[in-house]
Amino acid sequence: MASMTPNESTNLTWHQGSVTRADRQKLLNQKGVTVWFTGLSASGKSTIACLLEKMLIERGKLAYRLDGDNVRHGLNKNLGFSAEDRTENIRRIGEVAKLFADAGLIVLASFVSPYKKDRDAVRASLTAGDFIEVYVKVSIDEAAKRDPKGLYKKAFAGTLKNFTGVDEPYERPETPELTIDTENMSPERASEMIFAHLGKCGYLSA
Ligand code: ADP
Repeated sequence: MASMTPNESTNLTWHQGSVTRADRQKLLNQKGVTVWFTGLSASGKSTIACLLEKMLIERGKLAYRLDGDNVRHGLNKNLGFSAEDRTENIRRIGEVAKLFADAGLIVLASFVSPYKKDRDAVRASLTAGDFIEVYVKVSIDEAAKRDPKGLYKKAFAGTLKNFTGVDEPYERPETPELTIDTENMSPERASEMIFAHLGKCGYLSA
């Protein structure tokens, strides 16, 4: 099990350099922000994030994707899927997103992130406006039909435990900045919609 949040070190001082976030944002002509995709497995978070990343890069905006399985290969490889480990998983990702926002990057974070309190904690830890929550909506029936990784099949058969939407809860966001109903909107249209939102809110210029 991972050690939890209390700071185990004392006598720490934040070392302030002479280059600021504003300097980096000016260099990149964009603003640091985290687009946080939340939704059931197979809702389409990664598919939409990949399209959006490509769209941003093609238009000269520096985006970086943080994705569930990828992060669990490295940074969070000591974490499992218990409620406590899921919370720690999201907390660490939130810290990475905070650093990347400070670096001026547009972070595309796609994680099931089933617990509202964990997502809200990430939002609260970031500077106001740095967190755009995107609810990637799908019914459990449709997600199970898509099942690109065969996980629902295993979860319904009982060979995969603690699977969100089957034997674990998913707490949908109450007031996300954006909701994408993936049963009525293509991934291409969804990524265009988020791109437009970023532009409208001023993130695509310094
Ligand atoms: P997640 O990252 O949420 O687990 P993935 O993006 O890995 O989901 O998988 C979603 C699957 O659903 C992909 O195979 C994708 O092609 C398919 N899909 C079908 N319709 C949509 C849609 N409207 N938006 C996003 N994905 C969709």
